[in-house]
Amino acid sequence: LKEQLRKSDTLHVVGELAAGIAHEIRNPMTSLKGFIQLLEASVKEDFSTYFGIITSELNRIESIITEFLVLAKPQATKFLQKDICEIMKNTIDLLNAQANLLNVRLDLYYDNNLPAIYCEPNQLKQVFINILKNAIEVMPKGGNVTIDIKKKNSEEIIVSIADEGFGIPADKLKRLGEPFYTTKERGTGLGLMVSYKIIEEHFGKIKVESVEGEGTIFHLILPINKHL
Ligand code: ADP
Ligand code: MG
Repeated sequence: LKEQLRKSDTLHVVGELAAGIAHEIRNPMTSLKGFIQLLEASVKEDFSTYFGIITSELNRIESIITEFLVLAKPQATKFLQKDICEIMKNTIDLLNAQANLLNVRLDLYYDNNLPAIYCEPNQLKQVFINILKNAIEVMPKGGNVTIDIKKKNSEEIIVSIADEGFGIPADKLKRLGEPFYTTKERGTGLGLMVSYKIIEEHFGKIKVESVEGEGTIFHLILPINKHL
């Protein structure tokens, strides 16, 4: 229990920090990118290597910000009844181009007549983005991501996101969601931390099943009704 408390404290602090910083970085970033493009177009010498590095580093900063941008709009947490399949469809539309390039297919299955969920739609979308991005990234040679949304029982909906990637070793499962925990050379270790925090705020749970060499399933379990 102590360990759990400490984990959620860290989540809270890092989340607050993210909220303060991410939004403020977005605008100067956009302006930097614009001016660098102008500069590249107007210099006579060939600095393409330098411009390549600058652009790729700016893109990296941008992807870090993107992973926790929703937390950066403190005023915008509006909980309402929403169709979770619609949110997932929007997310898939957003990621399909990237997935196609990597030969990854995103397949969505869902039950008809699913009840609406009491949620903050932008935040849930952020969770779906972060978990789908991981699923795509774990299959460098392509494969399928299968998304399944159904009623778990009369009180909960379960969203399962399954990949065919290399899986997660059992002893690493408990590290998921830890701030800055990453096994990727250019990872941030922020995507899951943010996702756990958002699901926690929805009074939901994340459960992970993984078989090394076969794949991983992230189950997001969300209460249907307005929480007390
Ligand atoms: P990042 O993607 O930047 O590394 P995340 O917080 O999104 O940060 O993920 C943290 C770590 O969790 C990843 O580096 C990876 O080791 C592990 N992980 C997350 N999703 C998966 C997955 N679908 N398959 C295998 N490992 C995963
Ligand atoms: Mg990630």
